[in-house]
Amino acid sequence: MTQYLMNTYARLPVALVKGRGAWVWDVDGKSYLDMVSGIAVCSLGHCHPDVVKAVSEQAENLFHCSNLYRIPQQEQLAELIVNNAFDGRVFFCNSGAEANEAAIKLSRRYCNERKQGAAKIIAMEGSFHGRTLATVAATGQAKFRQGFDPIPSGFEIVPYGNVDALIDAIDEETGAIMLEPIQGESGVHVPPEGYLRQVRKICDEHGLLLILDEVQTGMARTGRFFAYMYEGAEPDIMTMAKALANGFPVGAMVAKPFVADAFTPGSHASTFGGNPLAMSAGIATISTIVKDNIVEKSLQQGMYLMHGLDELKEVHPCIQEVRGKGLMVGVDFDTDISSFPVDGLGKGILLNVIKGRILRLVPPLIISSREIDQAIEMIDDILKDNGL
Ligand SMILES: *Cc1c(COP(=O)(O)O)cnc(C)c1O
Repeated sequence: MTQYLMNTYARLPVALVKGRGAWVWDVDGKSYLDMVSGIAVCSLGHCHPDVVKAVSEQAENLFHCSNLYRIPQQEQLAELIVNNAFDGRVFFCNSGAEANEAAIKLSRRYCNERKQGAAKIIAMEGSFHGRTLATVAATGQAKFRQGFDPIPSGFEIVPYGNVDALIDAIDEETGAIMLEPIQGESGVHVPPEGYLRQVRKICDEHGLLLILDEVQTGMARTGRFFAYMYEGAEPDIMTMAKALANGFPVGAMVAKPFVADAFTPGSHASTFGGNPLAMSAGIATISTIVKDNIVEKSLQQGMYLMHGLDELKEVHPCIQEVRGKGLMVGVDFDTDISSFPVDGLGKGILLNVIKGRILRLVPPLIISSREIDQAIEMIDDILKDNGL
């Protein structure tokens, strides 16, 4: 019964109880091809054997012990993250919002200590950084702040992808710039080529910290381990979560040592953050991404998917644009497609629609070409059924 749940989600009328690879099953045994992955979370597919094994084995030994003690699995996962990103120090938490909250706190702490309190953060229109009060303040979409006043101050929002507007917004109060390499939640918006590199340069010229939110774009989703790598725009602080442990709730913030130094024992903490059970899932996930060359798979299958969608665009003029990188793909329609998630349930496919006219496709990165063909076919059928 849903009557005991707080009414915060508009849920689809299906209960999923089992998953394998790119497929999930509902309580009645009906199968669905999963083009959502729990919103870019289960990148290795559902119940990946390496992750299941790691979590099961760890569950037999120790779930939790607190950061009052050394946690070897945390040290191991931090090393894996750093080896696949840049030289830095890692803080573990339990979600994307928490990782961004930690990034905002670290940035402020650094700016208060080393930049005479110039701690204002410039963030972007159309961004999404989470649902805590500070992260909705950094989120450049008014609907997420609606009714939650007083909203924390210290943020300024500028248009995404616009270098001149960004430079104009910088003043003596500014300490950092925070953005997603590709905006996910608002509809898979890819900024102009060279933008990230220019933002990095602006940060260097003005002595600002670059905070990249790779919560959705990280962990091979875009066809690079992290999306900043497309332009070599190494951030000073970076956050990740979603796919980091393939569905186990783990978030992380990594910062270059000169910034990370601003946190000392007691500055920030999390009871659950980095517990052995969560870390075992993260270690298995990153190890598998590396071992199975998932970055390359994401890139290849992403091109295959976008090619199929481009072909669909030829026969369905309601499709305006197909865009994305790797397996983070957005399809713009000139008409309302808000029935697609329900239509998809009928066909046996999970689909996510943003703002009633953008189809966001973020399937597991292990999806096969055959499965992508099936997805395209089902989307084609749904379009035809709707007279589109
Ligand atoms: C999903 C998302 C978040 C929030 O993550 P939660 O785990 O839901 O708190 C933050 N930033 C980006 C870019 C996201 O896609």
